[in-house]
Amino acid sequence: MNPSFPAHLELDFGGQVVWPKAVLQLPTQWSNMKKALRAWLGVWGAAALCLPVPVIHLVFPPIGLVVGPILGIMVYLKSRKGIEHITCEVLCPRCQKDFALDLRSVHFPAYESCPHCKAGFTLYSWKAELSDSQS
Ligand SMILES: [Zn+2]
Repeated sequence: MNPSFPAHLELDFGGQVVWPKAVLQLPTQWSNMKKALRAWLGVWGAAALCLPVPVIHLVFPPIGLVVGPILGIMVYLKSRKGIEHITCEVLCPRCQKDFALDLRSVHFPAYESCPHCKAGFTLYSWKAELSDSQS
């Protein structure tokens, strides 16, 4: 499991952008590989289940043989861009109330809403927190 690190999240409340402090955890290469293997073997498993079925066994297993690795690669590439875990304290600019964000397997842009006033917002990106120990 990758270590967590402090960062700032870009949250867009319909034009009003805020950058609250957050703690992010990126996925490990192994967890990305596991997701990809699960997708790949899932397709091959479904294709293998079609083998005893007449006529269908001529169509789905050959397609699954090709689609499985392609889907695995696509899942791997997509999961590399995701964020494993985000925790964040947000001050809603609409109702001025605090709420906690706790999200897993996030892909930008992600859509969430304030639990108090239901104002929708979009998570667009993050940037690493600049350490001010050097100044
Ligand atoms: Zn609110």
